[in-house]
Amino acid sequence: MSEAPSPTTVNPQLDQSDLSANAVAVVTALREAGFEAYLVGGCVRDMLLGRTPKDFDVATDATPEEVKEVFPRARLVGRRFRIAHVQFRGEYIEVSTFRRGNPDEDDDDDVPSGANHRSVDGVILRDNLYGTRDEDALRRDFTVNAFYYDPIDDVLLDYSDGLRDIGERTLRTIGDPKTRFREDPVRILRAMRFAAKLDFRLHADTEQAIAPLAELLTAISPSRLFDEFNKLFMRGHAVAAWTLMCRFDLPEILFPLFENEDALVRVALQNTDDRIREDKRVTSAFLLAAMCWPEFERRSALSATSRNAADERLKAAHAVISEQSLTIAIPRRMTFFIRDVWRLQTRLERKSVRGILDHPRFRAAYDFLAIRSEVGEADTELVQWWTDVQETRGTDENTAASQPRRRRRRRYRGRRSDARQVRP
Ligand code: ATP
Ligand code: MG
Repeated sequence: MSEAPSPTTVNPQLDQSDLSANAVAVVTALREAGFEAYLVGGCVRDMLLGRTPKDFDVATDATPEEVKEVFPRARLVGRRFRIAHVQFRGEYIEVSTFRRGNPDEDDDDDVPSGANHRSVDGVILRDNLYGTRDEDALRRDFTVNAFYYDPIDDVLLDYSDGLRDIGERTLRTIGDPKTRFREDPVRILRAMRFAAKLDFRLHADTEQAIAPLAELLTAISPSRLFDEFNKLFMRGHAVAAWTLMCRFDLPEILFPLFENEDALVRVALQNTDDRIREDKRVTSAFLLAAMCWPEFERRSALSATSRNAADERLKAAHAVISEQSLTIAIPRRMTFFIRDVWRLQTRLERKSVRGILDHPRFRAAYDFLAIRSEVGEADTELVQWWTDVQETRGTDENTAASQPRRRRRRRYRGRRSDARQVRP
């Protein structure tokens, strides 16, 4: 690591109403127990930008075990490195111990760990090399992510000219971008995410390092890429993140089956952003279904005239989903979701109503048909037809619900299949 940095100290006069009382309580208790403790990471950056943080992280020189002594209800969690979650009602505060970077290795578990990175009790320390606050500041990814804030005295420590970059709305790696992206290529995706979320430009040096190193993302474990996929696209800035990723040809690295026809993907991403803004439920399986749909369609078309077309479609679905999973680990339940949404498209196109409204994925399949119609892949009349079918059913149900319970039960006794049948 470089020579010891000395941070600039300022009183930022942050809006105290944005602070989590629980986070301040954690900092206070750790201080009273004789440790250093600061708010760090995204919450400080967001407050400096006048945004309300979504969660609060604390960094301290106390080890996770020492944190647990101060907060016996804390849970020690973490696969890559151990951190303490201090639980409060409706919120937990993540407390991590100051760490130092490991210039010889990734801070990711895709790289085999060396024996010298194990503690006597066998805990893998590779990314758990505790350090000082100064070292902790240097191992962070971007200048605007390396603030340390003392909420009690309203004092901010700025190690890497992060305040300048906040002012210039610029995302810049700490240190040489090539080295930092090589150390952990996921930082490339983090750059996309933060630039999209904060509406920051990338600093020229940071930007130039991305394209030549993007291939390194292929070495990242599919499960970590799935986590990052969710953070990129399920936080309300999916369209902006995708647009930026396209500038660096990143989609073809994350989605090798994907072929530059991104109209459907864009509509799906916009749909996700809109739903998040409206506080509606979202799933990343819907996006994956959109991203892989063109390839699924291409493969299905090859066997469209076969006598076993339905079987062939199912096989194509399995093949496409498994191939995509080699890059981004798609959880099993999501693979079923994607397959069903695709499969139901044929039934929706055929207006085959029988039993379909009760299918657990009907609603998602209908939404998928709607986004296909937005890019001219399905008739808007067809979407309207299915909208009407659901409304008719809704009206029927309301009428049924207003009937006395006993009568309804008696009427359907012994005829369960009739009761379930749906008429448009
Ligand atoms: P968000 O608001 O999206 O949570 P964040 O900045 O808090 O943004 P996190 O992923 O929660 O992002 O990480 C917390 C902090 O940990 C970051 O601000 C950064 O300082 C550090 N960090 C996280 N991942 C990395 C990484 N791969 N390399 C270096 N530093 C990292
Ligand atoms: Mg965070």
